Amino acid sequence: MKNKAILMLAAALTFNNACRNTVSEIEIHPIQDNVKPRLMPRALFAEAPDSLISELGLEEGIPASVCAFLVKTENKEILFDAANGAADSQLLPTLSSLQVKPEDIDHIFITHLHGDHIGGLTSGQKAAFPNAQLHINIVELDAWMSMPEEQTISLRKTIELYKDRLHTFIPDETLPCGIKAVEAYGHTPGHTAYQVGENLIAGDIMHGTALQVDYPQYCARFDMDKEKAVQTRKALMETAEREGLKVYGMHFPQPYWL
Ligand SMILES: [Zn+2]
Ligand SMILES: [Zn+2]
Repeated sequence: MKNKAILMLAAALTFNNACRNTVSEIEIHPIQDNVKPRLMPRALFAEAPDSLISELGLEEGIPASVCAFLVKTENKEILFDAANGAADSQLLPTLSSLQVKPEDIDHIFITHLHGDHIGGLTSGQKAAFPNAQLHINIVELDAWMSMPEEQTISLRKTIELYKDRLHTFIPDETLPCGIKAVEAYGHTPGHTAYQVGENLIAGDIMHGTALQVDYPQYCARFDMDKEKAVQTRKALMETAEREGLKVYGMHFPQPYWL
């Protein structure tokens, strides 16, 4: 009888554990870094014809944002990118309004190493997040570290500040908190999306959703390998549709997801 009770208890515990990773236990908070509304200039999309731009009513620019995302799961506070760290950055004030202090951040996952995604990692000469483990795809880090030093001075300083808690990975490795890294190469050499439950945090997969959702063949000037960026954009959006994933982007306009 006693054994049966123990078995039942074990079964109940297993069931509880199985339920712990449900989507409902993942909270995602978009953090818009920019204060003023942001339009990506039409000129960024040089290959998109004028006729299409005017048909879509985008002559004045394409609505966008600069965002980071705070994810709360498994009792951890996780940041995806750190926005650009400009003087009027809304990253720390927004975290504060969510009752999250910089020292509370456990992990930061970086989609890629452009300044508008890692500028907020530093605060003055210090690491803005003193206790966070920093995760970067090895392909991305290697690509930038092999660029001339004079072009990557601030990146090298940032990496130095986090060097004791820097973790590199290759996609498909198991990352903390059940997070899965997804190759999204093209925008930068090691640009990486992250799947958290049924959410895909997709970095700079698009810079102008009002154009690129329906016309993924057009790249923003920032895409380093345009052909690859187009392939990735199409493939990722197809996967998201097939698997019912909500796609978040660091430059999507409100509500910051598709
Ligand atoms: Zn970028
Ligand atoms: Zn960006």
